[in-house]
Amino acid sequence: MSADATGTTYSTPVPHDPAIDALVAALPKISLHCHLIGSVAAATVVDLAAKHGVPLERGADDLYDHASYEDLGEFLRVLDVVGSVIRDPDDFHRVTYESLTDGGAAHGVLYREIHLSPPGHPGISYRRVVEGVRAGMADARTDTGIESGLVIGICREQSGAAAVELVEQVVEHRYDEVLGVGLDYEEVKGPPGLFVEAFRLAGRAGLRRTAHSESGPPHHVEVLLDDLGCDRVDHGYHVVDSPEITARCVEERVPFTCTPVSSDIGRYSGSGDGSHHRIREMVDAGLLVTIDSDDPPMFGTDPTHDYRVLAHALGYGRDQLAALTRNGVEATWLDASDKTALLARVDALVPQVPATPSPTSEDPS
Ligand SMILES: [Zn+2]
Repeated sequence: MSADATGTTYSTPVPHDPAIDALVAALPKISLHCHLIGSVAAATVVDLAAKHGVPLERGADDLYDHASYEDLGEFLRVLDVVGSVIRDPDDFHRVTYESLTDGGAAHGVLYREIHLSPPGHPGISYRRVVEGVRAGMADARTDTGIESGLVIGICREQSGAAAVELVEQVVEHRYDEVLGVGLDYEEVKGPPGLFVEAFRLAGRAGLRRTAHSESGPPHHVEVLLDDLGCDRVDHGYHVVDSPEITARCVEERVPFTCTPVSSDIGRYSGSGDGSHHRIREMVDAGLLVTIDSDDPPMFGTDPTHDYRVLAHALGYGRDQLAALTRNGVEATWLDASDKTALLARVDALVPQVPATPSPTSEDPS
């Protein structure tokens, strides 16, 4: 464990390096892979549980046990607990607002496409969920300037028919904030081919599409692109096992939303040793890699720390990290003029970010 100056406890130790800390704190960031349900601070979970009279097995200090999430099933079990205490539009307003302000703007996030999983909140209608989330997005924008959109997550552990039903609701109740759909939860329990009908329905309705591929073979990336119509891939580390599919994704500039800390703990980046070698391979291959923090408090990280970890592991300085942010702008689902405006904001901020010499090799503190 290590902690930063504010006392935040991180799951992944890195050497103390003030120059890198200053760099990653000032770096503007684009967030395309952060789940709302996974970004709720433990103290908020405890508060909401008390509000609704839900007993919790653990308190705020040990609710999130990062080390146990090597087992994705254990992680998803805790995620269900969090989902069960977010019950009314006020709750959704609160968790969205906190995620975008303390968990976003405070880390230099200029823009986030929030992954929202209605199946993680049984017992409340899609419309009421989105009502609360939209209010939180609007208030966060007013208070901090952070812009955001929504990706509605289909749960791949449910059936293809349930996925179609969810997309039908998304299409029936259109909101400007809802930009597209995603596919998450455990890939081995729901290979992408089961969701072709739901994704085609989303495509016909003009929704953008992305999907998680954390543990599947490289071929799953082809299924996402060709059968599901995805124009983005969440994680996707295994693509580098296929030179042909990698070359195609480079050629088509397919964005990959990589999440260093959670993927290292979950071992689906193939390392688990802090080397983040698959992310390096993806960058070196010329893929359009973006960086985010997935489920930040649950994995003992935040948007700044994921960049910090990468700076240490891969020796990246300001220019390489800013390139990842610029990739993020290209990978958003904004229209061309909004992308241009967002890129201008990034370009105006990057020169103010202190450059750093290569990382030091001091002992972890
Ligand atoms: Zn994810």
